[in-house]
Amino acid sequence: MCLSLHRLNLQLQSAFRLRDNVISLKGECEALMGADNDLDRLYRLIARHRESCALCKLDMALLDISLHRD
Ligand SMILES: [Zn+2]
Repeated sequence: MCLSLHRLNLQLQSAFRLRDNVISLKGECEALMGADNDLDRLYRLIARHRESCALCKLDMALLDISLHRD
């Protein structure tokens, strides 16, 4: 897997954990909005990365081939 994408995925996971914490602690609306904004930002970063990264495109092409091999 592409290292940059891997790093973005790790950030996304910790953003999810943070959001879950805010929810479980019944955190303030502002904190929850901040956590949601963080998730949005990471989704956009990942989408943009996938469009521009040759390694990720190759990964997706290989995945596509393996899914349609049968
Ligand atoms: Zn990549």
